[in-house]
Amino acid sequence: MSSTIGFVGLGNMGGPMAANLVAAGLEVKVFDLVADLMDKVQGGIPQASALNAATDVDVFISMLPAGVHVAGLYLEQGVLDRLPKGALAIDCSTIDPGTAQQVAAAAADKGVAMLDAPVSGGTAGAQNGTLTFIVGGAADALQRAHPLFDIMGANVFHAGAAGAGQTAKICNNMLLAILMAGTAEALSLGVDNGLDPKVLSDIMKQSSGGNWALNVYNPYPGVMDGVPASRAYQGGFLVDLMAKDLGLAMATAEASKSSVPLGSLARNLYRVHEQTQGAGRLDFSSIQRLYKPELVGEQ
Ligand code: NAD
Repeated sequence: MSSTIGFVGLGNMGGPMAANLVAAGLEVKVFDLVADLMDKVQGGIPQASALNAATDVDVFISMLPAGVHVAGLYLEQGVLDRLPKGALAIDCSTIDPGTAQQVAAAAADKGVAMLDAPVSGGTAGAQNGTLTFIVGGAADALQRAHPLFDIMGANVFHAGAAGAGQTAKICNNMLLAILMAGTAEALSLGVDNGLDPKVLSDIMKQSSGGNWALNVYNPYPGVMDGVPASRAYQGGFLVDLMAKDLGLAMATAEASKSSVPLGSLARNLYRVHEQTQGAGRLDFSSIQRLYKPELVGEQ
């Protein structure tokens, strides 16, 4: 594959994703507002601006925090005007489906194919190239993107038309927030009643309460090595970003008049956690501290 890639947004997720493309031998022009992050992608070609990263590339990838940044990049900063006709743009950020559809329509007007391709799998998935891509957009554009998804990830799903990738991702993250809060609550109840959180986790993992949080992302400090709970909840997926995704779920539910009482409760739990415990920059498994504030998350 000899494509030239432009990659904008080199944070916890975008940095390692871009690095994997470089490691696969691709020419990758990189840009982030934080200059140091460009140097961290060794072998990437640092650019002075996002527009430079969109110049003379075959594929342009963005990995930004929220919809306002994505609309700003593509529509206001003029990336769509700068991309060559026939280029493929892939936004991997998790944003509202409405903005994804708006940007995709503007891209189509400029002769640029566009996919929304939010990811699941966390920072470990980004580093190891095992992400799941949840894609919205045309099937032929997905076919073009597939070799790149195969470098950065392990699974690719076509959710439907433009914006459908975002809708599916929002549903998944609402469920994840509910599962994480429920897992933290059950562990707290057990510990309050004299159980060892590791023993209880082993029991629930093999029982009907088993779930992803228990299997690979235990929120209780000292139960599992290598997870944010074992390093003071540093790194991982920020509470701020989970709260953002739950806000997207609420807006999506409002648009379809769907009832999401558990998602609404999870959103409020995360907001209380963020506002009363200053947890915005901690990993989202720190919701355990809402039940046990004394847990700092160190082994
Ligand atoms: P992050 O905050 O670590 O990185 C975002 C980067 O975008 C930052 O480095 C920032 O400087 C840069 N940026 C913002 N606006 C920019 C602009 N106009 N031009 C250039 N750079 C700009 O966030 P992250 O954890 O990498 O998450 C990115 C997206 O992926 C979010 O939408 C998040 O919800 C989603 N996501 C994150 C995870 C995770 O585990 N962290 C998992 C799945 C999905």
